[in-house]
Amino acid sequence: MSYINNPFFSTDSNNITKINAQQNSISTLGVKVPSPNFCPFENIPSNFRYVSESYDYENLGPTSYRFEVTYQCQGCYKYVAVGYISNMDSGSVIDYDFNFTNNKIKFPFNEDVENNFPDFKIIYTQAQKAEKYGLNEIAGPGYRKAFENLIKEYLIKFCDKKEESIQKRSLSDCASDLGDETINKIAKVAIWVGNDQTHYDSNQNPNLDLNDLKNGINFTVNYLISEIEKKKLLQAYDDKKKD
Ligand SMILES: [Zn+2]
Repeated sequence: MSYINNPFFSTDSNNITKINAQQNSISTLGVKVPSPNFCPFENIPSNFRYVSESYDYENLGPTSYRFEVTYQCQGCYKYVAVGYISNMDSGSVIDYDFNFTNNKIKFPFNEDVENNFPDFKIIYTQAQKAEKYGLNEIAGPGYRKAFENLIKEYLIKFCDKKEESIQKRSLSDCASDLGDETINKIAKVAIWVGNDQTHYDSNQNPNLDLNDLKNGINFTVNYLISEIEKKKLLQAYDDKKKD
């Protein structure tokens, strides 16, 4: 049985835990319920230890009631509560629609990146959210768009390139002007992966995936920030020399 909205169950959930669910203060029923088998914190299948069950049960009818059971993941030791609706001696998982929209997403780059490339931050963070929700078909193009924004902004702001000419050039072509041969190549590979993730019939590099795209962006961001710092430092030396 699968619970598509419940992140603690993978599609082949067959483990059964017997709970001595107490229907009311007088009778105790042995209820068999499916126990969780997937840890969304670690994103891997996992075993869960039964810890306890809720003391109060919400009666939903003469033979139907709802209760909660807490478990502990035996991989990361985090606790989770699973809600069940029981009908006599077996219980089914309440298929809550879990929503993690309020979870904070951490932008992985420092303040220099944020200050110099605010639009990059906005787009990159949205791609992270899409990835976090498992929307990989949206995350890939999102990261690719963020990368395009970063590269073009850098060339216009810090390399005196004309905005009109940059907008006309392909992204891959723009990447040729970033810096040394190594970083240009790294950026181009990331762009290829991004294109594969974005375009309808593009599958040029099936062995490269979202992580390769993010790694490429990561290296490029660090390189560009270092270049900006170098330019600032040189400018500061020049300014002092004039005095
Ligand atoms: Zn875990």
